[in-house]
Amino acid sequence: MSGSLKSWHDECGVFGVWNHPQASRLTYLGLYAIQHRGQESAGIVALEGETHRAIKGLGLVADVFNDENLNQLPGTAAVGHVRYSTTGMNSISNAQPLTAQLYNGPIAVAHNGNIVNAEPLKKELKAQGSIFQGTNDTEIVLHMLARNPSADLMECVKTCLERIEGAFSFGILSHKSLIVARDPYGFRPLVLGTMEDKFGGKPTYVIASETCAFDLIGARLIREIEPGEIWWVDENGEHSMRMEKKAPAAKCVFEHVYFARPDSIVFGESVYEVRKRAGQILARENPVDVDMIVPVPDSGVPSAIGYAMESGKPFELGIIRNHYIGRTFIQPQQSIRDFGVKIKLNPQMAVLKGKRVVVVDDSLVRGTTSRKIVGLVRAAGAKEVHLRIAAPPTIGPCYYGVDTPEKSQLIAANQSLERIREFVGADSLGYLSIEGLKAAVRGEKGGFCSACFDGKYPTALFGLDLDPKGNLRGI
Ligand code: AMP
Repeated sequence: MSGSLKSWHDECGVFGVWNHPQASRLTYLGLYAIQHRGQESAGIVALEGETHRAIKGLGLVADVFNDENLNQLPGTAAVGHVRYSTTGMNSISNAQPLTAQLYNGPIAVAHNGNIVNAEPLKKELKAQGSIFQGTNDTEIVLHMLARNPSADLMECVKTCLERIEGAFSFGILSHKSLIVARDPYGFRPLVLGTMEDKFGGKPTYVIASETCAFDLIGARLIREIEPGEIWWVDENGEHSMRMEKKAPAAKCVFEHVYFARPDSIVFGESVYEVRKRAGQILARENPVDVDMIVPVPDSGVPSAIGYAMESGKPFELGIIRNHYIGRTFIQPQQSIRDFGVKIKLNPQMAVLKGKRVVVVDDSLVRGTTSRKIVGLVRAAGAKEVHLRIAAPPTIGPCYYGVDTPEKSQLIAANQSLERIREFVGADSLGYLSIEGLKAAVRGEKGGFCSACFDGKYPTALFGLDLDPKGNLRGI
C-alpha cells in the first residue's frame, strides 16, 4: 500500500479552550465527547504563560490521559485532537496536535479534514528543504507557516490557508491566541461556544467539531464558524476575518448520515432529527408489508424510528449491541460460527422468530456487514428480511476527510441493485434516494457535498493519482 495515498484518509475531531483555569481538563472531556470521530490517537497541547506543553499518545482518550499527566498540562488555554487513521498509519508521529517552534513562537495545529493538494504542496516544500516527520497532510501547514515568517501570525495563517485546497477545520494554538479556521466549502463542522463563568473579567471560549462536546462541559453554543472564516481570540478579545477564496457551500452530507453523533447539531440541524426524517422518507420511497422494524444498532436506530413512525409498524430491538469490545479483545481459540459479528451484534430469536422484518442501517459501503447481519437475522428465525438503507448507494470514495474504501470495493459502484440484494441475501433491498437525503438534511437548494453518493466532487482532485475508474493508482 502506498503510504502517501493511504495517509490522505483522516476522520478526526478538534476541541479547544481559551481563558479557563481548567483548560486541559475541559479539553480532555471535550475529546471524550467526540471520541467517535477518531480512536487511533489523542492529544492535548496546553498553554501556560507563553509555554506550550503537549501530551499525545496512541489509543483512546481514556488510554492516553490520566489524572497525573493532565496535571502536567497547566494553563488557561488548550487545543486537543482525536484521530482516526487507516491501518498502518497510526504512528505517534502523526498524532495531533502537531507542534513546532516558529519564528513567531510555538504553534500547535489540530486538523479535521483532508487537504487535496497536499501532494504538490509537499513536493514544493521538500524542494525548498522541508523535512517531514510524519505521513499526514497537516504537517504541510507547519512548514508553510515556517516559510512565511511575518511578525503578524494571523497574516501568516491567512496566506497559508489560501493555498490549501480541500477540507479543513483547524484548531490552532499559538503562544498568544487560539485560532480556528474552516475551509471556504465548509466541508467539516466546527462550532464556537462559551461558558457561563468569566475569568479575569473575560469570557471563556470553546471550539469543537461537534456540539455534543459543549453539552458535556456545560458550554453554550454561540454559532458555527462560517465557511471561509478565520476566527481567533487573544488578550484583546475575539476577532474574525474572511479568506479571499470563495467557494460554493459543500457541507459533508455523510456527517449527518453516519459520522456525527446523533445528539449533535451539525450545520444548524439536529443529526438525530435528520436521521429520523431520512427514515421516514425511506419508508415512503420503499414501503413493504412486514411485522416489525429493526435497527442495526447504534447508527441505524434514529432512521429505524423514522421508518417505524412512517410505516406504522412497531419498532423492535431485534439486534442487541455489545458496547464493551475493547481493542485488546482476545479471540476464541476454536472457531465459532459468525463469531466476529456476533460479539458485537446479537439478533434475538425471542423477537425475530417467524417474523417478517425490515432491517434499517445508515449506509451500505462494501456490503459485507449487511450480508452478515441479514444472515444472522435469518438464522434467528426471521421469515422475511427486507434491508433498508437510510442513504443512497455509496458510489465514490471521499477525498475530504471520511475514510472510505477504494471505488473498486464500493459494491454499489460496481454492482446492480439486484446483485447487491443477492449478495446481502435480503428478500428486498431499498435505498434512500439522493433527493430524499437532500430533503432530510434540508439541502434541496444545494449547499452539501454528496460526492460519495453522486460522484460530484466540489474541488479539483490535485495530485490524487486516479485511474479512469476513479480508483487511486498504486495501491
Ligand atoms: P460495509 O457495507 O460492510 O462496508 O459496512 C457498512 C457499515 O459500516 C454501516 O453499517 C455503517 O454504519 C458503517 N460505516 C459506514 N461508513 C463508515 C466509515 N466511513 N467508517 C466506519 N464505519 C462506517
